[in-house]
Amino acid sequence: MKPDCYAVVGNPIGHSLSPRIHMLFAAQTNQSMVYEARLGRPGHFAEDVRHWFRTGLRGLNVTVPFKEEAFRLVDRRTARAQRAGAVNTVWAEADGTLTGDNTDGTGFLRDLRIRLDLDLADREILILGAGGATRGLLEPLLAEAPARLVIANRTPARAVALVESFAQLAGTTQLEASGLASIPDGPYDLLINATAAGLGTHGLSLPPGLLAGTSLAYDLVYGPASRPFLDWAREQGAGSVTDGLGMLVEQAAESFTAWRGVRPDTTPVLRELRETLDTP
Ligand code: NAP
Repeated sequence: MKPDCYAVVGNPIGHSLSPRIHMLFAAQTNQSMVYEARLGRPGHFAEDVRHWFRTGLRGLNVTVPFKEEAFRLVDRRTARAQRAGAVNTVWAEADGTLTGDNTDGTGFLRDLRIRLDLDLADREILILGAGGATRGLLEPLLAEAPARLVIANRTPARAVALVESFAQLAGTTQLEASGLASIPDGPYDLLINATAAGLGTHGLSLPPGLLAGTSLAYDLVYGPASRPFLDWAREQGAGSVTDGLGMLVEQAAESFTAWRGVRPDTTPVLRELRETLDTP
């Protein structure tokens, strides 16, 4: 029997680790499947994706810059995709209609809880950035009942808009917005870089005092690209730092579980990727 076919679509896509991650999951759980990277064509995304599913694709991961387009394309969305406003996982139902999910926030939280053993209740969190990734993180972060969550963005209006749309989920958390130049004083227990920018000449410029010895600095970016932010965090005295590879593997495991009905063990997969990836 032919193996089931899965793919990730993005543009660019050559750098994607998703095929490797999913094939490691498949080998570990004895699933008969293939998983390939496909280059998305701007302007033809919906047409291409519908064609792929009509011709046998079982499931699709979606990465930059198509997550919002995937949100509009699918026929129905899970509650977490609806709140994130973006879709990174698609599957076909028996009648051929498409369902969209967003596993980024859950993947991030699983990485924090399981690998980093961090309890966020009553903690203070600072998120840099107010794009799609931050939107996906807000619901699961607020569910942990931190004392305070500040969203700081280059364009402050986007941070304000996020605070307004998530206010009803804030519960006891003090949810605030700021610009990058007016971040409320730290130190924060958790500082998340969810911007598409590194540190330095054309990147972020951050005030001192955001981090202390008990702080964790987490860059959603992984591999060498996370080095400037993580080096800065170490210089600022962060107790621990990590890149986004754990989140990448955990969000992939969430997709794999939704598609195949079996949850892979992420620990050996993350270890194997770390052995070959140049990580700070
Ligand atoms: P996005 O929607 O395009 O948002 C980009 C954010 O970065 C915006 O807040 C933007 O600010 C800010 N930004 C861009 N350039 C900047 C600069 N030079 N200085 C200051 N801020 C800048 O992107 P996204 O989907 O949220 O993704 C953000 C990052 O997370 C990406 O690097 C992505 O690869 C990573 N990510 C990783 C994972 C994982 O599994 N590890 C999952 C999802 C995303 P403005 O609003 O002012 O433009």
